[in-house]
Amino acid sequence: MSGTLYLCPTPIGNLGDITIRTLEVLKSVDLIAAEDTRVSQKLLNHFEIKAPLTSYYEHNKREKGSYLIGKLQEGQNIAVITDAGMPGISDPGEDLVKLCIKEGIPVEALPGPCAFATALVASGLPTGRFAFEGFLTVNKKNRLEHLESLRQDPRTLIFYEAPHKLLTTLKDMLAAFGNREIVLARELTKRYEEYRRTTLEDAIIYYEETPPKGEFVLLLAGCDPEEIRQLAIAELPSAEELIRRYAKEGLRAKELTKQVAEELHLPKRDVYDLYLQLKESL
Ligand code: SAM
Repeated sequence: MSGTLYLCPTPIGNLGDITIRTLEVLKSVDLIAAEDTRVSQKLLNHFEIKAPLTSYYEHNKREKGSYLIGKLQEGQNIAVITDAGMPGISDPGEDLVKLCIKEGIPVEALPGPCAFATALVASGLPTGRFAFEGFLTVNKKNRLEHLESLRQDPRTLIFYEAPHKLLTTLKDMLAAFGNREIVLARELTKRYEEYRRTTLEDAIIYYEETPPKGEFVLLLAGCDPEEIRQLAIAELPSAEELIRRYAKEGLRAKELTKQVAEELHLPKRDVYDLYLQLKESL
């Protein structure tokens, strides 16, 4: 019978946040697969956990994935941990879970620390609907495309960012979204934990004067419904454009008026008056 893969969240700053169950699982498994064994060894030493460690990270996940599947199939129980927080959330884990499911190996995720969930609930922004977007790519064009695709999203938008890239990201966000409300959650669960609830413009001014330090979760207010409505209106063709288009297609006055009025939610009378004004030039 195969063993079980346990996804074990570890503290994102405060060691007290490890759960009793995570400690029990880490103490009981045959092997712990860690993103960076040096980082994890310190944590394991602190809690006097002696299980053997092996590395599992982005650049060895293919070979190591097959190795770990082999061990699980032999009946070993394996825990996956990362440098901080929940494995599989902007961290290794996802591929191994997929492999286990494919091979019929049981997977158990233990609840515990996760930076974005912690930041979201204290941000003061709507928690009912949100989108976790992880890290933005460093490729400028793809970043802007990614942000642009979120411009009309009404959900709270959550990103991870490293301090040295923070200002560039804030400026790209300002270009894509305009001056939205943002919460910068920094150094969560640590000594200098901070929530800066501000706007994109003010955050840029602040961090231009105060170089950003530490780890950040960025939470942006979703698109305001009125803005979504205005953007939709701005994207509609004008009544004149539509009248010209349908006249060219051969629609008669009555049919054309009805069609344009329906598409643009305008009174038929107004559309017809405009039609009469344009008639000579159609
Ligand atoms: N798996 C982790 C989780 O569950 O949140 C995330 C790992 S990801 C590689 C690291 C990013 O998470 C950091 O760059 C930062 O954006 C965010 N993060 C992790 N710990 C944090 C903390 N204590 N305060 C704020 N952000 C944190």
